[in-house]
Amino acid sequence: MAIDFTFPPEVEAVRQKFRDFMQQVVAPAEKDLHIDRGDPESRRQILSTIFDLRQKAQQGGLWLPHMPREFGGLGYGPTAVAAISAESARTSFGPFAINCQAPDEGNMHTLLHFGTDEQKERFLRPLCEGRARSCFAMTEPEVAGSDPTLIQTRAVRHGDEWLINGHKWFISGAKGANFAILIACTDPEADPPQARNSAFIVETPSEGWEIVRDVETMSGGHNHCEIRINDLRVPHRNILGGVGNGHRLGQVRLGPARLAHCMRWLGQIETALEMMVDRSTKRFAHGSLLSDKQGIQWKISESMMELYAAKLMVLHAAYLIESGADFRVPVSICKHHVANTLWRTVDRAIQVHGALGYSKDTPLANMLLAARWSRFADGADEVHMMRIATSTIDAWRGEGSLAGPMGRLPL
Ligand SMILES: Cc1cc2nc3c(=O)[nH]c(=O)nc-3n(C[C@H](O)[C@H](O)[C@H](O)COP(=O)(O)OP(=O)(O)OC[C@H]3O[C@@H](n4cnc5c(N)ncnc54)[C@H](O)[C@@H]3O)c2cc1C
Repeated sequence: MAIDFTFPPEVEAVRQKFRDFMQQVVAPAEKDLHIDRGDPESRRQILSTIFDLRQKAQQGGLWLPHMPREFGGLGYGPTAVAAISAESARTSFGPFAINCQAPDEGNMHTLLHFGTDEQKERFLRPLCEGRARSCFAMTEPEVAGSDPTLIQTRAVRHGDEWLINGHKWFISGAKGANFAILIACTDPEADPPQARNSAFIVETPSEGWEIVRDVETMSGGHNHCEIRINDLRVPHRNILGGVGNGHRLGQVRLGPARLAHCMRWLGQIETALEMMVDRSTKRFAHGSLLSDKQGIQWKISESMMELYAAKLMVLHAAYLIESGADFRVPVSICKHHVANTLWRTVDRAIQVHGALGYSKDTPLANMLLAARWSRFADGADEVHMMRIATSTIDAWRGEGSLAGPMGRLPL
């Protein structure tokens, strides 16, 4: 049989190594921190803690698992990275400690895939070495982010440079970023409309790139910024992936980046479920422990069933990416399922914890806030469902089979 649900011993050893690092180094460092992002002293402590954790990760051979060795990474493919990311996301700072956090992680893949040698040296290498940070600027307040063919930020070529004007928002990590990958319209008449956009590497800060504000979200400010772009000049050599390829680049970037989110969410789902089970075995009411009550057992079993499916989906989608197969529909299925499993499981865990779950004494409240955006960022649930349905119908019409959108699972 070709199917083997165990990791090779070396990957299992790496997973265990990352788990130990998260439990023994990252979690205790986090516990000692008082996190108040509005307070400059708290921010300074957070940065200093991340810096310290990064040094320890580098010394321990845990740095940059997803990048090739020539860029200082550990060279693991998506399947092994799935295990590592799930372990690291059991803590808040884990992904930052190992330099595998959004949006840098997705930008690294994009630069590796599309960058020229010069762009890789100037932008990818400092990112990999932890000397730079980056952001990805696509969404605009005026038009639906779900449909990038509507992008209004306009780039016009003048000789060897492009003049860009527009408006972006929710650009994660924009403050403090050394560069942005900016998606702008270079040909509004292009046919197909997917060829309208191009990607530019913008060095930041730059004249014409104005960070208006850190958008206040339901969980406070997290460096998701609004940006005005006024007569920004970008040299032609900073086009990433060729003129008109912005949509393709977004798709290539977003597939693995979406899956990387799912990998991290697995760690959060498992943490929430463990907390739910643990609490239910310790809380007593109406003559028995909560764990003895069917109403609570159903919450546990529903979460277990959904997490089990989520893990299988993540591994299969990672396998498809790693083997160069068409991963688009399986990644959409996975993104929808894992995001919604995260939302439901954290909500159930809060229910089982009662007032404690609603408090900030446990990580559940913050996890629920993150779970809320997971259902529309990087592709809203409805858009993924639309793509899953149209691909399924097309496959049936074209091949008389649903195997293609199912990632050709041999069942
Ligand atoms: C925490 C966070 C971080 C983010 N980071 C970044 C970033 O770094 N860079 C960046 O460029 N963007 C970022 N975004 C923006 C994110 O990618 C967008 O929110 C997302 O693409 C959706 O776009 P929108 O918000 O404009 O919603 P819209 O496109 O307006 O969609 C709103 C709703 O309309 C419905 N809808 C849309 N299309 C359909 C359809 N075809 N059928 C049925 N219903 C539909 C869905 O319910 C959807 O949720 C971030 C967002 C958040 C919350």
